Amino acid sequence: MKIGKLFFALAFLMLFADASMAAKWKAKHVVLIGLDGWGAYSVEKAEMPNVKKLMAEGSYTLKKRSVLPSSSAVNWASMYMGAGPELHGYTEWGSQTPELPSRVVNKNGIFPTVFSLLRESDPKAEIGCICEWAGIRYVCDTLALSYDKHITDKPQNPATTKCAVEYIKRAHPALVNIVFDEPDHVGHAEGHDTPAYYEKLKELDGYVGQIIQAVKDAGMSDETIFIVTADHGGIKKGHGGKTMEEMETAFIISGKGVKKGYEFEESMMQFDCASTIAYIFGLKQPQVWIGRPMVQVFK
Ligand SMILES: [Zn+2]
Repeated sequence: MKIGKLFFALAFLMLFADASMAAKWKAKHVVLIGLDGWGAYSVEKAEMPNVKKLMAEGSYTLKKRSVLPSSSAVNWASMYMGAGPELHGYTEWGSQTPELPSRVVNKNGIFPTVFSLLRESDPKAEIGCICEWAGIRYVCDTLALSYDKHITDKPQNPATTKCAVEYIKRAHPALVNIVFDEPDHVGHAEGHDTPAYYEKLKELDGYVGQIIQAVKDAGMSDETIFIVTADHGGIKKGHGGKTMEEMETAFIISGKGVKKGYEFEESMMQFDCASTIAYIFGLKQPQVWIGRPMVQVFK
């Protein structure tokens, strides 16, 4: 009997703790969608009705800057780690370990990511990462994740979408990062700003639409913030250099408590993504982070 009472008291306390944790959050769910190699230069011309609806119903900039070099791992790392390569140490296209020692490491031995901050704040939070390029897994702190899926099925983009849709409906994640490895490949093979590139963007927009629908089907729409962004853009058949086509990407944020139809003017860097997500979850960012939350997008 006593044990029974204790159990109920504990269960009640845990429920209460959960409620107070979620109460600190601006939304219960964040869906972060990354499109590798999606340059902001393409947004105006691209046929992306789902993404443009998120822009119309949310806030955005087309001038978020990548860190140098305008390559993949260094920018995904910065997006998740709230700092640039000088601090987190991942400096190249395919960095799997830091070439410079990370200025600080967490208990998992990696520079603190937004995933690990959320994990430390809420040990029970459902946090997922679904990616096509294995390089993502080296910079997101997989030990902080509840669900870590590298999609190898071909064709990858629809397989990733299917996995994301199922995961969202099944697990109702607090934070899920879904990273398509396109339009980067088309950019390298056919070229940036080409008909094939825009065709791929149109296809990717359809997948974004399916993910939005999954959030609706899961009954999560009122409590979700979507973010759609990219690591870098590109020019001709490459990226990594110092043109604005390579350096500028879109940052689109839409959903609960986010201003509608608001193109913000403030400067945004790649590492500000992590700070903005941390802000949504009421997480205190570590001193080593230099990112700034884009507080202006919230009502
Ligand atoms: Zn990339």
